[in-house]
Amino acid sequence: MILSKSSLRASFSNPVDGENTVLHEFAHLIDKADGATDGIPEYLLSKPQVLPWISLVRETINEMRARGHSDIDLYGATNETEFFAVITEYFFEQPGKLKEHHPELFSMLEQMFHPQAAPKN
Ligand SMILES: [Zn+2]
Repeated sequence: MILSKSSLRASFSNPVDGENTVLHEFAHLIDKADGATDGIPEYLLSKPQVLPWISLVRETINEMRARGHSDIDLYGATNETEFFAVITEYFFEQPGKLKEHHPELFSMLEQMFHPQAAPKN
């Protein structure tokens, strides 16, 4: 992963605008760590969470494409890989807004990134 100084600065200059290149690329690295860059971060998901995650992601991408707009960056509708990167930015930068608009996604991301804090399902 190579990040320019200017993109590092830009990423953290506004920590709540929902956009953060560092978090985006970090999400791709985590996703890739299991050998497949596919939007399924298997290191962060327990086995029973994998299928619900895939169907929630596909459902959300389909909604985004059908509407042509979303509070989620539309770049995330490109594919599952970009969705995971874009939704990770959203989760860390605007958790309250994500929780309000997409409680299921929020809950799954909370379990991935804060496994001790999240209530067990
Ligand atoms: Zn990307």
